[in-house]
Amino acid sequence: MSIKENYKKIKDQLTADVQLVAVSKTHPVSAIQEAYDLGQRVFGENKVQELMEKAPLLPQDIQWHLIGHLQTNKVKYIAPFIDTIQSVDSEKLLAEINKEAAKNNRSIKVLLQAKIAAEESKFGLEISEAKALFQQYIDGNFPNVEITGLMGMATFTDNEQQIRKEFLTLKALFDELNQLKPLKTLSMGMSDDFPIAIECGANSVRVGSAIFGRRDYSQ
Ligand SMILES: *Cc1c(COP(=O)(O)O)cnc(C)c1O
Repeated sequence: MSIKENYKKIKDQLTADVQLVAVSKTHPVSAIQEAYDLGQRVFGENKVQELMEKAPLLPQDIQWHLIGHLQTNKVKYIAPFIDTIQSVDSEKLLAEINKEAAKNNRSIKVLLQAKIAAEESKFGLEISEAKALFQQYIDGNFPNVEITGLMGMATFTDNEQQIRKEFLTLKALFDELNQLKPLKTLSMGMSDDFPIAIECGANSVRVGSAIFGRRDYSQ
């Protein structure tokens, strides 16, 4: 299927209150332009270098989201233009984003990435760490960032029960933090599990292969 057909199919499954982040990692600028021409404005990339190569070649009104693990020494490259950093997984990283945002006289939107998957390897804050970091933010420690919500990834499994349980864990944290200071974005769900994520309360989904096709990692 074409990007156009894929895109329409995904959009048909999303109500107006659910944001679609089109995950364009590994896909060429031409594919991003195609989705842009269909009306898509929010795109997600997981690597700084790839984002830096693509962004200048594409329309300036694209809202770029960084969705992959971010090293502190790379924050400075994206700080001038990034819309949202979804993958804040440490206090050190949040402090660095705050510093670079200040240098650029701006505020940067971020999501705290919480570890909800049973899998070992995934990056993310423990639930308790996410709570503690959010409290520091409320106390005024990071004036040049705006924590707009939470991001999480479920375990890669066919077990729907498990996926649901993990998403509901993040939703519960979202509701708890939202009591302390209002949040906007609950980012969970990818190509294979976004319908479940939405049932569990997601209002932002990150969809890549279901729009752009399979990724070719050999390139
Ligand atoms: C790659 C990626 C996605 C999109 O994955 P698909 O299965 O292609 O939809 C979503 N979120 C993160 C953090 C990713 O790295």
